[in-house]
Amino acid sequence: MKNVDVLSCIQPTGEMHIGNYFGAVNNWVELQADHNCIYGIVDLHAMTNAHEPEKLRRHTDQMIIDLLACGIDPRKSTLFVQSLVPEHVELSWILGTMVSHKELAMQKQFVSKTENKNDDDISAGLFSYPILQAADILIYRPDAVPVGKDQDQHLELTQRVAKKFNKDFGPVFNVPVPKFTQTPEIKSLVDPSKKMSKSLSDEHSIKLFETEAAIRRKISGANFSAEGKDNLLEILKACGSEGNFDELSGNENLGELEIKTEVTEALLRITAQLKKNRTEVLKDTSLMNDAIREMSKQARQIARDTLFQVKEKIGIKNISNF
Ligand code: ADP
Repeated sequence: MKNVDVLSCIQPTGEMHIGNYFGAVNNWVELQADHNCIYGIVDLHAMTNAHEPEKLRRHTDQMIIDLLACGIDPRKSTLFVQSLVPEHVELSWILGTMVSHKELAMQKQFVSKTENKNDDDISAGLFSYPILQAADILIYRPDAVPVGKDQDQHLELTQRVAKKFNKDFGPVFNVPVPKFTQTPEIKSLVDPSKKMSKSLSDEHSIKLFETEAAIRRKISGANFSAEGKDNLLEILKACGSEGNFDELSGNENLGELEIKTEVTEALLRITAQLKKNRTEVLKDTSLMNDAIREMSKQARQIARDTLFQVKEKIGIKNISNF
C-alpha cells in the first residue's frame, strides 16, 4: 500500500467559502502534483450541532462537486466521504480513552463554539469531535496535514494521542506534521474578531459559487474597522496574481472604496473560473458518484489495515478478513 503523504478534511456544513479555499483547498490542489494525497468530506462532523438530514445530504453532494470544481483530481488524489469509512468511528472510540476531559474542555474551538450556549444545548459530539478528527487523520498515517491556522490546537492533540498510543502500546501511528498554508485565518466580513466559518450566518462569508451581485454586496458592506481592513487586505493577498496586493498595501492613504473595489474584482476573477469548472463537473454526476464510491473504497482499505494493527496492540478481538 502506498504511503499517504498528505491528508486533509472539510466538513459539509454549508457551502465552501473563500476561507476554506484560500486556507485549505487551493493548497490541496497544488499538493496533488507531487504528493500522494487523501482528502475527506467529513459528514459525521457536520452533526455536532442540531442538523437537518436533507441539508446534510445536499451539502455533502455539493461539497463533492465543489472540490472537483476547485481542481481535486480523482486521477491524482483520493477523495472520500467519512461515513463510508466507518473505521474512523471505531478508532475514535479507542483514542477517546486516551484523552482527558480537561484537554477537550480547553480546546479553543470548543470554547468559542459554546460561548453563548446553555450547557443543555452542547452535545457530547461537539465536545469530543477533536478525537474523531484525530482518528480521521491517524487512520491514514499521513506524514503531513495541511491545515489553516484555526486548526493548530486540534493537530497538537492529534500528535499527542499518536505519541501516547505508540509509547503505551507500540508503534502504529505516524506523528503527522502540520503544513500551514501561507494564508492565515480569513476573518468574518461582519465581525472580524471571528474566523470566517460555514457555521456563521450567510453575511459573514463569501461563498465560492455565489452570484456576482452577492459578492459585490457583501464586500461593499464588509466591516472596515482596522481589523476589518486588514482582513480585506489579507483576502486580496490570498488572491495572488489575480489581486493587486503589493501595489495597494504600500499605500497608507488608501480609502475604503479603493480597497473594496480591488478585493471585489479579484474575487470575481477567481470565482468566474471556478464556476466554469463547476458547470463541467455537473455535466455528468453519475461519473462523479462512481468515482466517490471507488475512492472511498480505496480509503477504507488503508483504514482497515491501520485499525487491524491498532486492535492487535490493544487487545481487541481481531480476525483477519472478517
Ligand atoms: P468551517 O469552519 O468553515 O466549517 P472546516 O472546519 O470545514 O471549516 O475546515 C476546512 C478547512 O478549511 C480546514 O483545513 C480549515 O483549516 C480551513 N479553514 C476553515 N476556515 C478557515 C478560515 N476562516 N481561514 C483559513 N482557513 C480556514
